[in-house]
Amino acid sequence: MTSELYRNYIAGKWVDAGSGQTFERRNPATGELVGVFAKGGKEDVENAVQAASAAFASWRLYPAPKRGEILYRAAQMLLDRKEDLAREMTEEMGKVIDEARGDVQEAIDMTFYMAGEGRRLYGQTTPSELRSKFNMSVRKPIGVCGIITPWNFPLAIPSWKMMPALIAGNTVVFKPASFTPRMGIRLVEVLEEAGLPPGVVNLVMGSGAEVGDAIIEHPDVPLISFTGSTETGTDVATRGARVNKRISLEMGGKNAVIVMDDADLGLATDGILWSAFGTSGQRCTAASRVVVHRSVQKELSERLVARAGGMRLGNGLEATTDIGPVVTERQLETINDYVHVGRAEGARLATGGEIARDGELSRGFFHQPTVFDEVRADMRIAQEEIFGPVTALIPVDSLDEAIDVVNGVKYGLSASIFTADINRAFRAMQDIFTGILYVNAGTTGAEIHLPFGGTKATGNGHREAGTAALDFFTEWQSIYVDFSGRLQRAQIDPIEEDGKP
Ligand code: NAD
Repeated sequence: MTSELYRNYIAGKWVDAGSGQTFERRNPATGELVGVFAKGGKEDVENAVQAASAAFASWRLYPAPKRGEILYRAAQMLLDRKEDLAREMTEEMGKVIDEARGDVQEAIDMTFYMAGEGRRLYGQTTPSELRSKFNMSVRKPIGVCGIITPWNFPLAIPSWKMMPALIAGNTVVFKPASFTPRMGIRLVEVLEEAGLPPGVVNLVMGSGAEVGDAIIEHPDVPLISFTGSTETGTDVATRGARVNKRISLEMGGKNAVIVMDDADLGLATDGILWSAFGTSGQRCTAASRVVVHRSVQKELSERLVARAGGMRLGNGLEATTDIGPVVTERQLETINDYVHVGRAEGARLATGGEIARDGELSRGFFHQPTVFDEVRADMRIAQEEIFGPVTALIPVDSLDEAIDVVNGVKYGLSASIFTADINRAFRAMQDIFTGILYVNAGTTGAEIHLPFGGTKATGNGHREAGTAALDFFTEWQSIYVDFSGRLQRAQIDPIEEDGKP
């Protein structure tokens, strides 16, 4: 294992932290050292913001199609390096290699997609209410964007933010999560090699309390794009609002799958296992609730128990592994605490429930895939985000009740329904208030060209991905061009008779 020192990237140079301090990241499956990283602080953020502010003056005027060419090159490099990046991702945060490949692919897709936006970035043209006057609206970049990201999608999420920011002509100060700094570095390396001018993207690694805080408080960072927990995000928004920042928040979830009595139970079982235990349950869209019609509850529960019991825990790099480690020891303890809470609340532990410590597993942070049955919708395990391989079966008697249960949490990210009845599917689409909804699929699987985000405590009204992302990273400028040669007053002057220009 390498003990290479990885540095911050400021004004086009890889530099040590001003304080000279470093921090380590270890592989959550094996405990081996992944790398040693510069531990940035306020001074480094100051330098990064200065570099990004200086670069904004020219980057905003660099033609957008040419910005797109840089992103096309970056996307191709990500594609060329996909396998290496995926392996490094698994080492750094634990997800199984196939899912790590998917994470890299999402970054590739987003980078190609936003590269194409360089030749669109559409605004509107409209008729004027006056003669000899031309109206249009154009998108303008905003300035230095503060980008703060979590560890669970360490390439995909930074790319969801960085690529729309860059194509629109903004510059960036990027703080990756402290558990996945190397993936942050890899993304910035690619952008550097693709020809991004110095200062356009700057990377400062370090803790949320120091680096994140300094970005949020900085007066020359007008925009913050944050993904992480609802607790941290709410704090970010509160502090940012005091200085009138534009803030987008993507936060926690408590996503639910509905399984109706007419559902294909084999398909539903596949969808639930993938959504509940993929990335060890550490996806923002993880299915941590299964709202099941009472008439199929027993059969679904038995199918889930049989399949979950056969899932193999292990190092995500091994082809035989179904479920990798969770990200840290602390997260492992939190998950296990929730198992105790569930039992104490009276839910039936159908399978799992233990920290896995056999043999090699004792070197990492592994938790058995866990299914609770006979869960009531008001229990804590049915209301709070656990962020681990734990799911809760909540029996109901009707679609109405199922929809109420799905909507009855503080979050609103993703939901799904398994049913063979098109009327029920459309009822769910109409009455479930999440940002994302699936029919006959699990709760995960978003594609990058549709809006991504959640309602209620999951977000604050913005969306990532698709062209919706551009709405956050640009300001509209409405432009009125009067070519009549005289003063024309909108809303006041009558239009001239026919024949007059
Ligand atoms: P987190 O809130 O602990 O950290 C997120 C980022 O914020 C990290 O970079 C962290 O260093 C930084 N941070 C922490 N304290 C800060 C502070 N005081 N000021 C500024 N920045 C600070 O979240 P996490 O554990 O990294 O990620 C897991 C959470 O992210 C889960 O709740 C999950 O649901 C959520 N998530 C949401 C989405 C979504 O799109 N809705 C996607 C992925 C993850």
